[in-house]
Amino acid sequence: MNRARGSVLLPFILGYRGTLLGLLAVTPLLAIFYLHFNQDPARVFEHHTFHFTAITLAILLGLFIGYVTWRCYLESGERFLLWLALGFVGFSVVYAPHGLLTPLAPHNPWLFLLYGPASRLVMAVCFLLAVLQYQAPADTPGHRLGIGGWLLALGIFVLIDALVAVWAYSPWNSSFVLRVGMESASILLLGITLGWMFLRRAMNPLMIIYALSLAWFGQSSFAFTIGSPWNHQWWLAHLIFAGGFLLLSFGVVQAYLSTYSFARVYSQSELMARLRQEKQRAEQALVELQHANQDLERLASTDSLTGAANRRALMARAEQEIARAERYKLPLSLILLDLDHFKEINDRYGHPTGDSVLKAFVAKVQSMLRPSDLLGRLGGEEFAILLPETGIEEASQVAERLQQSMAGKPMEIDNKAIPLTLSAGVVEFPLQQGSGISEAFSLADKQLYRAKNAGRNRVASG
Ligand code: GH3
Ligand code: MG
Ligand code: MG
Repeated sequence: MNRARGSVLLPFILGYRGTLLGLLAVTPLLAIFYLHFNQDPARVFEHHTFHFTAITLAILLGLFIGYVTWRCYLESGERFLLWLALGFVGFSVVYAPHGLLTPLAPHNPWLFLLYGPASRLVMAVCFLLAVLQYQAPADTPGHRLGIGGWLLALGIFVLIDALVAVWAYSPWNSSFVLRVGMESASILLLGITLGWMFLRRAMNPLMIIYALSLAWFGQSSFAFTIGSPWNHQWWLAHLIFAGGFLLLSFGVVQAYLSTYSFARVYSQSELMARLRQEKQRAEQALVELQHANQDLERLASTDSLTGAANRRALMARAEQEIARAERYKLPLSLILLDLDHFKEINDRYGHPTGDSVLKAFVAKVQSMLRPSDLLGRLGGEEFAILLPETGIEEASQVAERLQQSMAGKPMEIDNKAIPLTLSAGVVEFPLQQGSGISEAFSLADKQLYRAKNAGRNRVASG
């Protein structure tokens, strides 16, 4: 991406986006004014079946989308969605008589007409309460509105229907004022809701859809106010309301298909932050895994008592070193070590002290070797040292140095001076192709046997 071009364009893109949204928000107003100045008062479309069918569809849709919103609330616990669901269902229940009572329109127009503004007012109240709960802490699963709450809400909505009926039959005859009053109150509430959203900057893609649909609902109330039953402004008002309703339904469906939430959907910064967090977590886990693998590898290749390489690791390294020596024509030597009369040490000082002697022995030998040499424990009190790039002479000197260092000074274990000697057999790996490890080990074993037979505490090589 060309960042420089992006940064120059960005203010224009943002400005264009803002203008687009503003225009989309007030498009109904253009249609309302157009019709207002071109409306022929004589032209009406009084079609009861069509009206009944359209309202029935709207109610079924309202109940359906109310249910989808409710399902989203159950998943996310987002209280915003609870009030949205109540708004949809409240609208549907209060609006229902408007469609059902279409045939009564000629007898009592108010009974027929008042349900419209009442349903929009109920919805506007719920939608205002929804944004007031925007980003409130989610309701925990045990505290989500249950059947009791819904029955109460339905009771209130049905009561509103009853009150509207009572009012329509009352002798006060101020229904026109009530109708305009309710539509104005809806417009005011929707305006407050939108203002609050702007102030709180409650604007993500779904909330923008919410804001647009609220703007359309407000304009439909305005169109209802200036329209008269069955004229085209009145039908246009229905249409604008349906537009807002479909738009908001689309938002709910998007929420259902993504995060079951309006507040948390598509929040890019949040997604990025979460992605970074997950990446860090994955990297951390990888490092821990590598450490664990290293630990495992170390454990699998180390003798647990002495910390020297175990037989398996020693043999693996010997294979590598033999291949390297053959390839580069380098010398490679092997020393086999066996502690002398170790059984007696155990018998005399006890097995635990024998263990300590083995540990101290390994530490001492390791301190005297080069880093490239490898000391391994073959088993019991037998050890091997692999000496890469070392000929038999040099290897014999190493073995003698070890033997003399042991013989010269007893080991200090648990405040006891324990004399310890070793015998060693030294060989150089034969350089001809295909000479194996076992061959070298049996040769070294022979030398070791020779040293033992010659009286121990000595080195034999050949
Ligand atoms: P030689 O000079 O002939 O090698 O005599 P040795 O006593 O060292 O040889 P032998 O093979 O008879 O005995 C080895 C002893 O090493 C016997 C066993 O108890 C002891 N040993 C082997 N592994 C361990 C160990 O892990 N800890 C202790 N403390 N002793 C061990
Ligand atoms: Mg032995
Ligand atoms: Mg021994």
